[in-house]
Amino acid sequence: MSKTLAIDLDSVLADVVVTWVDEYNRLKDSNIIKEDIIAWDIHTILPITETESNSLFSDVWIYRWKDIPPTQNRIGNIIEKLKTQNYRISILTRRDRKTLPYVSNWLETNNIDCDDLICVFDSIPKSIYPFDILIDDAPQNIVDIKFPKKGILFDQPWNRSFNWPIRINRLSDLFHYLP
Ligand SMILES: [Mg+2]
Repeated sequence: MSKTLAIDLDSVLADVVVTWVDEYNRLKDSNIIKEDIIAWDIHTILPITETESNSLFSDVWIYRWKDIPPTQNRIGNIIEKLKTQNYRISILTRRDRKTLPYVSNWLETNNIDCDDLICVFDSIPKSIYPFDILIDDAPQNIVDIKFPKKGILFDQPWNRSFNWPIRINRLSDLFHYLP
């Protein structure tokens, strides 16, 4: 029986904050970089409301999905390699329903061939979904994962103060941790 790897989309596969920051700078006549986003709740560190910040994320997906870089070059090849090692790849993403067609375009453009794509529209915890291992950049998504499930934190500037036993910097680092 193959094991299921649930992989988050935003900031694990798609480096969406790079494009978010670019759009933020354009709108606010500002000059920040991704490394400046040191808190999960962006509205607590930048002059933007939570609603505005969230709708900017949706807009980036809708209008600028072609500009969103993957977190690593040829990331689709890494997914393929994981599949050859008998892992089932489930993309597990919480998002605005309106962004769905653009997510699909982005995955295709980046040659990411997942086994399933689960979009969460409400606030139910990701930990209840069927997977063996979840890779996510959000501490709140991995903190309540219970054995035998496992959570792997994907390093991003906003999660550096979160202490977690397994942290990876790139998706290909997974090969060092998977059984
Ligand atoms: Mg994420």
